[in-house]
Amino acid sequence: MSHVFARHTAATPPVVARGEGVYLFDQDGKKYLDGSGGAAVSCLGHGDPEVTEAIKAQLDRVAFAHTGFFTSAPAESLADRLIAHAPEGIERAYLVSGGSEAVEAALKLARQYMIETGQTQRTRFVARKQSYHGNTLGALGTGGNMWRRAPFDPVMVTASHIDPCYDYRLREAGESEEEYGLRAANLLEDELLRVGPETVIAFLAEPVVGATAGALPAVAGYFTRIREICDRYSVLLILDEVMCGMGRTGTLFACEQDGVSPDIVTIAKGLGAGYQPIGAALCSGAIYDAIRDGSGFFQHGHTYIGHPTACAAGDAVVRKLTEGGLVTRSARMGEVLNSALTERFGQHPNVGDIRGRGTFRALELVADRETKEPFDPARGVAATLKKAAFARGLICYPMSGTIDGQRGDHVLLAPPFIITEDQIGELVDKLA
Ligand code: PMP
Repeated sequence: MSHVFARHTAATPPVVARGEGVYLFDQDGKKYLDGSGGAAVSCLGHGDPEVTEAIKAQLDRVAFAHTGFFTSAPAESLADRLIAHAPEGIERAYLVSGGSEAVEAALKLARQYMIETGQTQRTRFVARKQSYHGNTLGALGTGGNMWRRAPFDPVMVTASHIDPCYDYRLREAGESEEEYGLRAANLLEDELLRVGPETVIAFLAEPVVGATAGALPAVAGYFTRIREICDRYSVLLILDEVMCGMGRTGTLFACEQDGVSPDIVTIAKGLGAGYQPIGAALCSGAIYDAIRDGSGFFQHGHTYIGHPTACAAGDAVVRKLTEGGLVTRSARMGEVLNSALTERFGQHPNVGDIRGRGTFRALELVADRETKEPFDPARGVAATLKKAAFARGLICYPMSGTIDGQRGDHVLLAPPFIITEDQIGELVDKLA
């Protein structure tokens, strides 16, 4: 009997034994193509010698020193590297141990900024209906994933949710893409006016929606208008790039492609690339200065913030992404993947949409390709696909969302950026 409290069920999954490049092997020797990098984590593939070496070297120097007493060379280097490549205005990196922690830090940074600037009446957040921001109470409270939230609702932060920018399902007949982008963004202004803009701390969104909607980007112009609305009402803009950031969409930060700079951006997953648990909330100089010049102390912290070994991994990963050409490779192999998916599934009766950016791609599975009628969620089509693919040695990431009728089954593909054209062929064959 296993004494590990398994993720969701009592069933014990296969035991992973080793990893090499885009493949994982279980203890019985079965080989799996990691078509989703777990959940868009393994951007460099498994067994990267440079990252492993960086971790070992740091372990040999010092594994841990509490940030109440010390900073460390890898933490300083990682923060410098991130800020050098971050969106305009972003000047400080708060280094944590994962995605949910990054979002918690972002929510508290935003709230404390409001306190320091005398806006204590700002106590709520606005986010989007199809979104996932993590599983801790604050992150869960801002996420729009109602079935996850429901049992915990009474003990979470106050947040309300607008429709996402979902061109393919929500654009009206006769509406141009540009008109739709503005209308979808204006839903934020409507919501601010409904709840009272002077009560809102921040608007929180994933630039490319991940787990809940399957690699769903916004249409051109959407985030520019969102930024304008946030500025008009002095509401902070938090972009959650935990899943879509770190080169996954073909640029280091996904928001670069939307032409928008946030006040805070969260990253994780690809930052550690699976080698160490690490995440970050990167914030503007204005937020940092308000806290420094105000109370002088961010009222937050975890024992493992800025962990030297985790930072050594993150630093090596970001160096490989930015100096090793891997972000560009994500963009290029993403195009190859998109062509292969379109060729194989473009006419499939149960594929309603093929979308994404870079190596962040998804198929939307529907009961009817013509009408785009979703499958009955009770059938669990995406989950069934995940199981069947896994049996055939392919890891792909399923999601079935049911939010205000915008339901759907998606399968997310997010392979390591080092994937080759042949391996993309293998991925698509197995998926088919
Ligand atoms: N934000 C987004 C957009 C995510 O996709 C996730 C994880 N799927 C999180 C936050 C939470 O990250 P973690 O699971 O590392 O806590």
